Amino acid sequence: MLQAGLMMDRPLLISGIIEHAAAQFGDVEVVSRETHGPLFRYTYEQCAARSRKLANALKGLGLEAGSAVGSIAWNNHRHLEAYFAVSGSGMVMHTCNPRLAPQQLIYIINHAEDAAMLFDSTFAPLIKGIAPYCPKVKNWICLSDAANMPAIEGVSMVCYEDLIAPHSELFDWPEFDERSGAALCYTSGTTGNPKGALYSHRAIVINAISGCLPGILSLSPSDAILPVVPMFHINAWCIPYAAPIGGARLVLPGPRLDGASLYELMEGERVTVSAGVPTIWLGLMQYVEEHGLRFSTMKRTGVGGSAMPAALIAKFVDNYGVEVRHGWGMTETTAVATMSCLSPKNRELSPVEQHAVIARQGKSVFGTEIKVVDEYGATLPRDGVAQGELMVRGQWIVSGYYKGEVSPLVDGWFPTGDIATIDAHGVMQIRDRAKDVIKTGGEWISSIDLESAAMGHPAVAMAAVIGVKHPKWDERPLLFVVRKPGKTVEREEILAFLTERVAKWWVPDDVIFLEALPVGGAGKVQKGDLRKQYGGVFS
Ligand code: AMP
Repeated sequence: MLQAGLMMDRPLLISGIIEHAAAQFGDVEVVSRETHGPLFRYTYEQCAARSRKLANALKGLGLEAGSAVGSIAWNNHRHLEAYFAVSGSGMVMHTCNPRLAPQQLIYIINHAEDAAMLFDSTFAPLIKGIAPYCPKVKNWICLSDAANMPAIEGVSMVCYEDLIAPHSELFDWPEFDERSGAALCYTSGTTGNPKGALYSHRAIVINAISGCLPGILSLSPSDAILPVVPMFHINAWCIPYAAPIGGARLVLPGPRLDGASLYELMEGERVTVSAGVPTIWLGLMQYVEEHGLRFSTMKRTGVGGSAMPAALIAKFVDNYGVEVRHGWGMTETTAVATMSCLSPKNRELSPVEQHAVIARQGKSVFGTEIKVVDEYGATLPRDGVAQGELMVRGQWIVSGYYKGEVSPLVDGWFPTGDIATIDAHGVMQIRDRAKDVIKTGGEWISSIDLESAAMGHPAVAMAAVIGVKHPKWDERPLLFVVRKPGKTVEREEILAFLTERVAKWWVPDDVIFLEALPVGGAGKVQKGDLRKQYGGVFS
């Protein structure tokens, strides 16, 4: 018979994170770029005190455990306080992506039954448009001081600073089951309505602890971390929880995510770690290269959300000495589920070979397990060749969608819709989204691999590949290229470049040059838009 362990059964709660930081790293700074005015700075102790004030204020508004509180906001200090106050009180923090279409925003706010909405003044026009369609939102709270409040015709709102001012800095955080819902984030919903992933306290706390591990982001009091990944997208990969656990300074970039603004913040605030999607790093790298700059404190950056091209990894590592931590995850996996890493053997490889290892999505992080399966659900061998749908399970993977009637799980595993291989060492490589993979003459071409190869050309700033209907081959690849500013390159040169790097039948049938690629809410290229416009060009 099993023996009960004789350990205390203390719940893993989000309130415990900010109280830990206040007690242990009370003087460690949080720096925040605001929508208005100069950089704001305070300490974890002050952040905790203001989070408690907000918790009292929300209670004063009549909100109670289980209520959903929405946010449409940048990465800034008031949004951070809401992360702790809302979840810490037993309410659900519903972060909304402001870049969703207004109809989708209205859908998710109503679906989540948000009773209050916290928003940055930047989004005043958006709020004006959606408020009449969100009848359950009784409190519109602008994350602002009185001096910078916008006027929104027809919406009665309160100013955040006025709301919390009269309240006490003392609040008794409730204790409850760690499996309770803490935060809600909807998928971007390219097909059908967005679906809600409701993260539990337990999932977030365990994931955030793992984010501090040396092989993940390695967060400690010696670090200053700048999460570029938005707090409205998968809780900024749990960094706002991980930094106070590890005691790292937290530098929040607010609304300015261009290369110049990020560089200024990284240098000015002595940032050592950052995290974001590849398109952000492209912008930063272009700015740094154009101006002949160096990073004086940056040591490593987490990257994910879409594949990081090997050419960009090479630039960070070889030219700037910044290590790249390439991870894979999705809304349904709370944050990072797999992470690339170099084994001692890999370190004996040439730099180019090492970058190719980092360009893969890596090994499952403790707490998650992965496998790839064929179309009948049979597990495929871990040989680095057999490719099939990636399945994932673990302590911070969704078991179902919010108010969803049908479980998405298959035999207890979550089917990701990604096509991947896993090698004998457990290293996973995403080959494509199932819907993006190109099927030509019965064989598969990975659009990710083609894009990565095209991005290796020195005149290419961004590349995207889609499968386009073809009368003979079913589908053929079509390449879209955005040239780097001031560079010239033509179709033939790009195709010749690719011919040297990929199988002949992979070489795209045509190249279309665009000024910019359509990029969606989370900074990812919207291939659906490209398919809609160009899907018939070879027919
Ligand atoms: P989202 O839920 O919007 O974050 O999208 C998750 C999807 O992004 C995954 O299912 C993958 O298709 C893609 N993705 C995330 N990280 C990576 C990565 N490192 N490489 C390639 N694709 C990725």
